Amino acid sequence: MFRLTDLGWSSFFESQLTAGLQGEDRAPVPARVAEEARGVYRLFAQAGVWLAELTGRLRHEVTSRAGLPAVGDWVLARPSQGDGRALIQRVLARRSRFARKTAGTRVEEQIVAANVDTVLLVSSLNREFNVRRIERYLTLVWESGARPVVVLNKADLIPDPGAWRYQAESVAMGVPVFVTSAVTGEGLGELRPYLHRGETVALLGSSGVGKSTLINARIGEELLRTSAIREDDDRGRHTTTSRQMLLVPGGGVLIDTPGMRELQLWDSAAGLDHAFADVEALALQCFFTDCAHESEPKCAVLQAVEEGALDAARVESYHKLRREQAFLDRKRDPAAMAAERKKWRHIHKAMRNFSKG
Ligand code: GDP
Ligand code: ZN
Repeated sequence: MFRLTDLGWSSFFESQLTAGLQGEDRAPVPARVAEEARGVYRLFAQAGVWLAELTGRLRHEVTSRAGLPAVGDWVLARPSQGDGRALIQRVLARRSRFARKTAGTRVEEQIVAANVDTVLLVSSLNREFNVRRIERYLTLVWESGARPVVVLNKADLIPDPGAWRYQAESVAMGVPVFVTSAVTGEGLGELRPYLHRGETVALLGSSGVGKSTLINARIGEELLRTSAIREDDDRGRHTTTSRQMLLVPGGGVLIDTPGMRELQLWDSAAGLDHAFADVEALALQCFFTDCAHESEPKCAVLQAVEEGALDAARVESYHKLRREQAFLDRKRDPAAMAAERKKWRHIHKAMRNFSKG
């Protein structure tokens, strides 16, 4: 039994329901995808937990991998008579989405997590710490439509975390940066507000930085209870899959999937604009409108580097991510990408205006 608002339901999704639908006999109801494994979905709905598959019609209608339900998606599903099973009829439009290239040689987009509100970008304060990596992750998160928060974990391992925080802040462009230790508990209280009722949080960061430890330190007891419930209703079909969404009884929804943790760039045009807003602003002042900021005369970006106002390594990082983006672009369907970008630019713009106001 769940309250939809506890699961993250909001007017954004509500407004996608059509009146006719609710009037139908045994109308499909909203449910959120908590887990996915080989075409079987675990859904959290008001009435409880269901195992679901797509209707034949939806399977037929879905033309790309990105159209399939992903963890965090809201769907409309019709439960069958009392056996805990359901059929997914429709995937509701996403408020944010993390995409990656599918594994292997095919260049296709796969959604690894949907409708995430906040992403905790976790780095650790040891050799793993790398501002260039933080820039990359920030680009990804801005692109997704979620809000990033930078977490510098393992503060107990180093003498002066403040200096590291400063470095991270210099590339994070107004994004909050927190210093934590999952071992001593330092700074964990500052993360708690991000995990409140109806909010969906995901963690992103290299393996070994302490994501699991943070989750357990923060909400360990509750999570254990959640997984006990999960086992009760499980039919033994996919107990070991780890793509999942967890409901934190104290408030909040946590998405913890390997796909999310290992995210690579997919489409980052708008994300790059946002993560490198300083470089983009300078670029507007370059003499040539198509300036590549490599060796052109009267380049405002190169000039800023020369004057010490902009870090050369940051510009290099910007170039590198752009090149990666261009490489992916050449392999994809241009019309589809352009349409998708236009849509997301619009959403980003709305978000920026929203956070200003
Ligand atoms: P994940 O791969 O990001 O989920 O990382 P884990 O949570 O599995 O942590 C990797 C290792 O780092 C484990 O041995 C943890 O005990 C350790 N670790 C996690 N957080 C901290 C911390 O704040 N300080 C220290 N010293 N070790 C930590
Ligand atoms: Zn330039």
